[in-house]
Amino acid sequence: MNDMSSSPSLTTTPADQLLVPITVAYGDGIGPEIMTASLRVLMAAGAAIAPEVIDIGEQVYLAGNSAGISTDAWDSLRRTKVFYKAPITTPQGGGYKSLNVTVRKSLGLYANVRPCVSYAPFIQTKHPQMDLVIVRENEEDLYAGIEHRQTDDVYQCLKLVSRPGCEKINRYAFEYARAYGRQKVTCFTKDNIMKLTDGLFHKVFDEVAADYADIETDHWIIDIGAAKLADTPEQFDVLVMPNLYGDVLSDVAAQIAGSVGLAPSANIGEHGAMFEAIHGSAPRRAGQDSANPSGLLLAGVMMLVHIGQPKVAERVHNAWLKTIEDGVHTDDIFVAGVSKEKVGTAAFADAVIARLGQKPTQLSAVHYAATTGQSFAIPTASPRTPAVKDLVGIDIFVHATGAVEDLAAQLQQAIGGSYDLAMITNRGVKVWPNGLPETFCTDHWRCRFLAQPDKQFNKAMIVELLRNLTQLGVDFVKTEQLYTFDGEPGFSLGQGQ
Ligand code: NAD
Repeated sequence: MNDMSSSPSLTTTPADQLLVPITVAYGDGIGPEIMTASLRVLMAAGAAIAPEVIDIGEQVYLAGNSAGISTDAWDSLRRTKVFYKAPITTPQGGGYKSLNVTVRKSLGLYANVRPCVSYAPFIQTKHPQMDLVIVRENEEDLYAGIEHRQTDDVYQCLKLVSRPGCEKINRYAFEYARAYGRQKVTCFTKDNIMKLTDGLFHKVFDEVAADYADIETDHWIIDIGAAKLADTPEQFDVLVMPNLYGDVLSDVAAQIAGSVGLAPSANIGEHGAMFEAIHGSAPRRAGQDSANPSGLLLAGVMMLVHIGQPKVAERVHNAWLKTIEDGVHTDDIFVAGVSKEKVGTAAFADAVIARLGQKPTQLSAVHYAATTGQSFAIPTASPRTPAVKDLVGIDIFVHATGAVEDLAAQLQQAIGGSYDLAMITNRGVKVWPNGLPETFCTDHWRCRFLAQPDKQFNKAMIVELLRNLTQLGVDFVKTEQLYTFDGEPGFSLGQGQ
């Protein structure tokens, strides 16, 4: 159905009565060329927008701002709440934070919406029937960016998944599907391995799905799901998934639809929205007038629908489809014999402008005006009653070399109450008691202490245990309390336990 919008008609103001302030960044590399081209098309189509230009990216980073964005730019973003952003170049080397992640998380843009549509036979693809939307969770998962080196051998990255985060993104996916007349929402997780984090995402997906009986649902383990997506993408409609999987698979989906150069994305939250192409700043193409502005232009279409200008969005999108159908193609999608005319960035924009008011005749035309009035509020998380939380033990992570039996004997000396050393794992695999000699061990041991049956465990015991371990010279590098929540364990078992 070719819809490109993230959430239809959030305002009721007709396009011709109000200039909506938007924050615009021209970015780096091909950014200025494709932003100039895209804004030219939007303005020619009658977009009622008042761009406020801010500087972000490479020059801001190199001027010493490690976040790549200045205070003034933040002020504009927080005022307009709509960000139309060209790609930026992240300088090589350490110390630079991802501007995208910073903007998404600071403004709470929790839903990343990426439509991936094929345009066969005009743009070459192995998947001519592909028309899906990936709704990627945008704030959580491994992107919390909390990483530590704990021992000589071992580094960790925390995967944080919250119930409100899962609820908002899953509900957004269903609301989106309903608003755009899509039939099915598919969830991808790896909950056979990550039973608590991905398990929560899947569980909440099922809970939310119960409120949308009109929409078909299914769930795939991410590995086979990804294989099916790459092989038969036409079987999918709306997909919802945690952050990292969505990041990877939306690039795959965009590429197999035809080109990453075509795909737009919207980042949506309660307090704002950001619209951009999914591709980067393609520095090698910069300044050559050869980049495809389509991803950014279609992101502009999503932005127009978001700010309540669906008719202008429809005009731009249909003119773009007609341009593609007429074989006017940029270098990245040009195929001799299929394409008719190879154009540069600016000439492509001219071609779209020349077709404003026209509709495609073979590709499906879009009808954004029809979505007016079907707007949905950006979902928020429902309040929850806190669970009854009981402390039942502790995992203590220890930096040590040597035999695990020696470590176990040392740890047992530190016990000063009605709890036991239950197991030791190395990278998650149980190595004590009864480990296998074949298991490869690093210098990083997870040592689990659990309360004896029907005995209490408390934080005073933890303090005493840690004091005893210190006196014994045990180098503990991290602790993780073990709780039950309403009687359910809030921790996973060791592999082999
Ligand atoms: P890239 O997306 O810039 O380029 C990958 C390939 O796709 C290149 O061959 C490029 O020529 C081609 N390509 C991309 N967009 C195109 C377009 N519009 N038209 C024609 N061809 C296009 O990815 P990269 O090379 O990995 O990254 C380059 C820089 O972009 C890096 O500094 C990276 O950090 C940054 N980046 C920024 C964003 C963003 O701002 N949202 C996203 C991804 C990467």
